Amino acid sequence: MRRAFSGIPASRGIALGRARVRIPHALEVQRETIKPEEVDAEIERVHSAIAFVRAEMHDLRQRLHGALAHEIGEFLDLHALLLDDPELLQGLDTLIRTKRYTADYALRKQRDRVANVFLSMDDPYLRSRIDDIDQVIGRLHAALHRRDAELHGIAGDILVTDVVTPAEIAQLQAQGVLAVITTMGSQLSHTAILARSLHLPLIVGATQALTKTNDGDVLIVDALEGHVIREPDQADLTAHRKRVDAFKRERKQLNRLRREPTRTQDGVDIKLWANAESREDIAEAHGLGAAGVGLYRTEFLFLGTHEIPDEEKQFNAYRDAVLGMTGRTVTIRTLDLGADKSDDTGLALRDEPNPALGLRGIRLSMAREKLFDIQLRAIARASAYGPVRVLLPMITSREEVVYAARKLDKVRKALADKGVAVAESIPLGTMIEVPAAAIALPLFISKVDFLSVGTNDLVQYLLAADRNNDALGDLYTPMHPAFIRMLSEIVRTARKAGKPVSICGEIAADEAFVPMLLALGIEELSMHPGSILTVRKAIRAIDHAQLLQSGRALSRAVDREAISRWMARHTG
Ligand code: PEP
Ligand code: MG
Repeated sequence: MRRAFSGIPASRGIALGRARVRIPHALEVQRETIKPEEVDAEIERVHSAIAFVRAEMHDLRQRLHGALAHEIGEFLDLHALLLDDPELLQGLDTLIRTKRYTADYALRKQRDRVANVFLSMDDPYLRSRIDDIDQVIGRLHAALHRRDAELHGIAGDILVTDVVTPAEIAQLQAQGVLAVITTMGSQLSHTAILARSLHLPLIVGATQALTKTNDGDVLIVDALEGHVIREPDQADLTAHRKRVDAFKRERKQLNRLRREPTRTQDGVDIKLWANAESREDIAEAHGLGAAGVGLYRTEFLFLGTHEIPDEEKQFNAYRDAVLGMTGRTVTIRTLDLGADKSDDTGLALRDEPNPALGLRGIRLSMAREKLFDIQLRAIARASAYGPVRVLLPMITSREEVVYAARKLDKVRKALADKGVAVAESIPLGTMIEVPAAAIALPLFISKVDFLSVGTNDLVQYLLAADRNNDALGDLYTPMHPAFIRMLSEIVRTARKAGKPVSICGEIAADEAFVPMLLALGIEELSMHPGSILTVRKAIRAIDHAQLLQSGRALSRAVDREAISRWMARHTG
C-alpha cells in the first residue's frame, strides 16, 4: 500500500530502491493508529509474526548440538513459553481492535505493561527477567517487518533504521547502499557530515520510518526535501524521474561556476575552503577551485578500524591530501575523537556520563602525549610536500594553546635535526568552538596564526543544546542573539590582531546563513565540497558594502524572530 512520510534532509540526493529494515534493539515506537478497515490485516500481521518467531525458535532448537546445547535449549524454551503467554500476546489483538494501534505500537504497549509487572517485583532475579521479555519482543518486532525472500547483500538497498554511527556510514556506502533513513539523528551529527562527504543521501528524524516500512518495500527517497514514498504509484514514479532530471540540470548549471571567482557584486573576494578528508573530497575540492582545505578531520582515520593508525599510515594520508591540493594550503586538525565520534581503537573513553563535555579533542591529545607526538610528527613530515597548517580542536584556554605550540615546534625541530624534510614553519590555529575560548580569545590570540570557528559545537555549548538531539527542535540554532554577539566579538578581536578567521561549521555551507556571516565581517568559509558551488552562487549575488551596513541591525536584533526577519530580507 502506498504511504508517505517525512524527515529532515541531512545529505542531499534522490534514490529509488528497496528497503532494508534494521530493527533496533530498544523498541522505540511512536504512538500511531490505523483506520478501522485496516484492523483485520494488522491483527493478521501480528499472528503471522508470532507464527514465524515460533517456527524460527523451533528450528533453532532442532539445530542445537554440542556442549552448550542443553543450556541454550532451556533458554529458547523459556522464550517459547513467553511467546505463548496470553498476558503478553492476547492483549495485542485487543489493543489493535479497540484502540486501533499499529501492531508496532501495540507491541510496545504490551511490552511496557509486562515490564512494569516485572519491575515491581521485589525479587532481583525476577526483575532481571525483563531482558528475556525484550528479546522475545525484539524478535517479534523484527518479524513484523521481515522480508520473505532470501536475504542478500545490502548493495542497492535503502537502509531504514534508528541510528547509524559515523564509523558505519562509510561502510554502508562502500557496500553499495543507495540511501539511509533513520528515525533519530540530526543534520549536524558526524554521521550526517560524513554522509554529505560520501554523497550518500540521508534523511534523519523520520520518526515513522520503522513503522511505515517493511523489508523489501520499494521506496522513493527524496533527500532534497526529506520525503519518502513507500510503494510508489505510477504518478510518483513519473514525478521521481522528473525530479532526478531537475536535480541533474541544477548540478549542470552550478558546474558553470567551477572556474569562476567567489566575488561579490561589488568586487570583494571571499575565500572558500573545503572541509575534506577522503581522496574523493580532495579531488572534488581541487576541481571546484577551493582555496585549500580549511578543515581536515583526522579523527575519521580512526573510525571503522580497531587499530590506532600508526605514524606511517597517518603520514601517508596527510601527504596525499597535501599532494592532491597541488600547492594550496591544507589545514590538518589534530584528533577530535569523543562525543558522537566514538572509535573502536579504545582511545576515546566509553560510557562517559557526559561525552560532549568529556575527554574530547585537545584534552584527549594532552592525556595521550605519545599519540599526540606521533600525530604531530606525521603532520610535520607531510608539510615537506606543500603548505600545511595545524588546527587544534576544543581549545578552552591559553595553556592548551601554549602546550600544543611548544610541542609542534619541538617535534618539527627534532625531525629537522635528524635530517627529515619538514617545512620551515607550520602555522598553528585554534578552533573556536567553546564559549570560553571565544571570551578568552584576546588572551591567547598572539599565540596563534589563524582561527577557525566551529559553529556546530559553539552553538551547542553556548546554548546548552545538544547538536545531535533532534527533540530539541528550535532550541539548537545559530539564530540567537548570544551567538551573533559572540561571533561578532570573535571577528573584532581577530581583525584587531590581524589574524584570519574562517567558519568551518555546517552553517558555512548553508546559503541562508551566508549573508549573516558576511554581514558580521567573515570573509573565509570552509565547507564540504558538495556545497562550494551553491555558496559561490549566493555570494556572487551579494552586495558586500550594503550587507556590512545592515550588519549593524543584525547585531542589535533582540530575538530569533528579529534575526529571522533580517535573514529573510537578505536571502536571494
Ligand atoms: C564544529 O564544531 O563546528 C566543527 C567544525 O567541528 P566538528 O563538527 O568536527 O565537531
Ligand atoms: Mg567541533
